[in-house]
Amino acid sequence: MHRRDQRRVDRQHGKHGLISSDRVQAAMKRVDRAHYVRNPHEAYEDSPQRIGHGATISAPHMHAHAVEYLLPFLRPGSRVLDVGSGSGYLCGVLHYLVTDLDSGVTGTVVGIEHIPELVEWSEGNLRRDGLGAALDSGNIKMIAGDGRQGLAEAGPYHAIHVGAAAPTMPQALVDQLARPGRMFIPVGEDTQAIIQVDKDLDGNVTQKELFDVMYVPLTDQAKQRTMGP
Ligand code: SAH
Repeated sequence: MHRRDQRRVDRQHGKHGLISSDRVQAAMKRVDRAHYVRNPHEAYEDSPQRIGHGATISAPHMHAHAVEYLLPFLRPGSRVLDVGSGSGYLCGVLHYLVTDLDSGVTGTVVGIEHIPELVEWSEGNLRRDGLGAALDSGNIKMIAGDGRQGLAEAGPYHAIHVGAAAPTMPQALVDQLARPGRMFIPVGEDTQAIIQVDKDLDGNVTQKELFDVMYVPLTDQAKQRTMGP
């Protein structure tokens, strides 16, 4: 990222006051958003952008915010699931948060996305951004499938991020949370709110509503394909 653009991103983040942790900032700086958007001129704008197939890459401040909530569960060696992985951007950021290159401890990030064209594109994006080795070793896995079902065989997950709004809480994802584990998920249709779902060491599940949002729906592939660009 150019220094001027980086400053712009830093300023935007400061304006929203959302990045409070150095770890999140450091991980986000290692991922160049220019590789994950359709129009590189807009790469460093702090706004969501369309990535085709009815999908949108979230604004950087929104990604930062989500990661911040999950941060206590993002440690070297953690397993993370990103549902509706779209561009792959967040999988790149999460990878750096669960991997400690100095000690060689690597975590696993699984991205699941139901539009196969986006899965293929996101893999290319990650490779262009220097994450080919992480894909080849399986430290990052990009899977084509219905994220509402999660991916039980790669779980349980210490952190689950959901990047599309579920009409109701998907029980399969709650089941795939580790003990302890945390999920950040937008829930709702006309009005949506982020719900933080926590599972404790004994498997007790609690939910907390964080703030209102507007995400694309977590839906059927066929339905999404009728939703325009
Ligand atoms: N964090 C991603 C967000 C992409 S938008 C990014 O910033 O790039 C939300 C994504 O959820 C879209 O790519 C959409 O195709 C995907 N999606 C919607 N319903 C889904 C489902 N049932 N299973 C998997 N992915 C889904």
